[in-house]
Amino acid sequence: MSQSMLYHAFGVRAGYEYVRTDYHQGAVQFRLVVKADQFACPSCASVNVIRKGRRERTLQTVPIGLKPVFLVTEVPTCECKDCGAKFELAPLLPRRMCITPKSSRRLRTR
Ligand SMILES: [Zn+2]
Repeated sequence: MSQSMLYHAFGVRAGYEYVRTDYHQGAVQFRLVVKADQFACPSCASVNVIRKGRRERTLQTVPIGLKPVFLVTEVPTCECKDCGAKFELAPLLPRRMCITPKSSRRLRTR
């Protein structure tokens, strides 16, 4: 699976980098991480930010044949070293997707 395949077939836009594909209990999982160029403070635009942790988001996307397909993305938690802001990085994912019950429980308001 290439980055351009993810872009054209599943609508994954800039901001994410493809890591690997996992096959898990009959489902296909594309693992994505946030690209390095996305690490900037939303308050002051500084790039002097450090990672404080991460969580994962799982979104179901269009199936391949009969196999369900999920995009598993990291959501890094960051802190700005200049202004002290704490924030999560979650570049937009395609709109036409369902959120799985598992991930919706984990989706928190910021
Ligand atoms: Zn800042």
